[in-house]
Amino acid sequence: MSRMFVPGPVDVDPDVLEAQAKPMIPHRSKEFDEFFRGTEAKLKKVFLTESRVFQPPATGSGMQEAGIRNLAQKDVLSCVNGAFSERWYKVALSNGKQADRLDAAWGSAILPDQLADALKKKHYEAVTIVHNETSTGVENPLEELAQVVHAVSPDTLILVDAVSSMGGVKIETDAWGLDFVLTSSQKCFAMPPGMSFAAVSDRALKKAETVENRGWYFDLLLLEKHRIKNSTPMTPAISLIWALDAELDKMLAEGMENRYARHIAMAERVQTWAEQHGMPPLAAKSYRSKTVSCIQNLPGIDFADLNAYLMTKDMRMANGYGDLKNKTFRIAHMGETQMHHIDELLEAFETYLQKM
Ligand SMILES: *Cc1c(COP(=O)(O)O)cnc(C)c1O
Repeated sequence: MSRMFVPGPVDVDPDVLEAQAKPMIPHRSKEFDEFFRGTEAKLKKVFLTESRVFQPPATGSGMQEAGIRNLAQKDVLSCVNGAFSERWYKVALSNGKQADRLDAAWGSAILPDQLADALKKKHYEAVTIVHNETSTGVENPLEELAQVVHAVSPDTLILVDAVSSMGGVKIETDAWGLDFVLTSSQKCFAMPPGMSFAAVSDRALKKAETVENRGWYFDLLLLEKHRIKNSTPMTPAISLIWALDAELDKMLAEGMENRYARHIAMAERVQTWAEQHGMPPLAAKSYRSKTVSCIQNLPGIDFADLNAYLMTKDMRMANGYGDLKNKTFRIAHMGETQMHHIDELLEAFETYLQKM
């Protein structure tokens, strides 16, 4: 077995890798139109939305930029409790927006009361939330946070980065009233990197009409104009669309509820094991990620040595992110990773600990 337990890119199943090898066809063609319409229909089932899902060639960070450029003329509130939520804040600043940050410590969640207070102090056009902070293994309470925004500031748009959770954790885009939900292909979708997907609400598109300088590449109105003709303004990532179709079929065949349950079971297995070995996850129990465990390292474990040992068994994990490097390590359990893979990893880890 060769398996990566790193939070993206994750292992791609052989049939999905092979699907990419199909010949090219012109993207302005009836065959391609039909294919593209089909992948969007399946994506809507994963995103739990009736509105639309864009499938442009870009990574998730590109969609962070798209949300910012299109959905606020000026005032943005960025919830920041890790590296990827901080990136979104920087994206907002670098696109010339007036961005304020609402911080929680790395390892803690953004709490609904905290968000309510910030929204009462100032009016924001948009709020950015990272659902699953891959750098800390924290899942923010997205449904509750969205409820707070709807209650306190109903016209504020809710922008969600679900890069490391969509496709592995249930996110009810329409039912929770989320306006912009983005993800990347290389995390829970278990595809090669290079594509992003974003669900966009009707009211978000209406807002975009009022925002100047949306740019061209990520202009949601231009993307919409082409989406209704089953295409993209730029050349789509055709090989990745072939892979996407294959992966979406796998997801829907497994059943989304089964897929969510599998991710929860893998997270519980890893997190319980880590606690039993004196290495508690960084996050408090009720906010632990279902797709990536960020675990506090034992003082005696040299992460590089541990990972080198795992690599002799064709496995690897990820070190902690930024300041958490060597203090924590991360085990991803997302995409097409199965419980037997987790068992093999923990068995090897156990052997390493015994040899220490
Ligand atoms: C990986 C990740 C990103 C960055 O995505 P790219 O596809 O590399 O641009 C953003 N947000 C989160 C939560 C991530 O896990």
